[in-house]
Amino acid sequence: MNKINYQKELDKITEKIGEKKPKLFLHSCCAPCSSYVLEYLTKYFDITLFYFNPNISPEEEYIKRVNEVKRLVAEMPCCKDVKVIEGRYDSREFFEYVKGLENEREGGARCIKCFELRLEETAKLAKENGADYFCTTLTISPLKNVENLNAVGRKMAEKYGVKWLPSDFKKREGYKRSIELSAEYNLFRQNYCGCIFSKNAQMYKSGE
Ligand code: SF4
Repeated sequence: MNKINYQKELDKITEKIGEKKPKLFLHSCCAPCSSYVLEYLTKYFDITLFYFNPNISPEEEYIKRVNEVKRLVAEMPCCKDVKVIEGRYDSREFFEYVKGLENEREGGARCIKCFELRLEETAKLAKENGADYFCTTLTISPLKNVENLNAVGRKMAEKYGVKWLPSDFKKREGYKRSIELSAEYNLFRQNYCGCIFSKNAQMYKSGE
């Protein structure tokens, strides 16, 4: 089966946008990933950036990451009309949600659940806030499975009755551009995905 080109799917939508920008509820995983996505999508959408990541541990790391997102939005000229909403943070919610999958490798079943947790809340709030679309910055990461992310997005779109904006932001040098923007804005670049399991795996790999 041919793989879907999600960048082309997104192009088909942006090509049809007229003068009035549709409302987009954009889930943000961190500042570096959000940088390119905001630079790109603010041209087409009226954006609310939603930071909802109860997967992140420990709490100090969460605080560091969310503060970087707020700083980035305050500093990037393209973000003058972007509104930021911070979701609830309780890491117990994540641990409960992925119970039994603690020992899964990164990229496996635990990560799909983690996408579901974050995108379900995004879809729900997108609907409540009257957004036309919802989406996530996560597809910029070369380490994340873009098929799984878009499949979870479509599932939540159906459940909540709000349109999923397909994406594969690493295409068109998106990931490279996010590294350039991270340097330009001196953004904190985390060295593990977010959960304690990915932190432990990273520490093991680097021999700490
Ligand atoms: S490795 Fe990343 S995507 Fe996977 S469960 Fe942990 S925080 Fe979520």
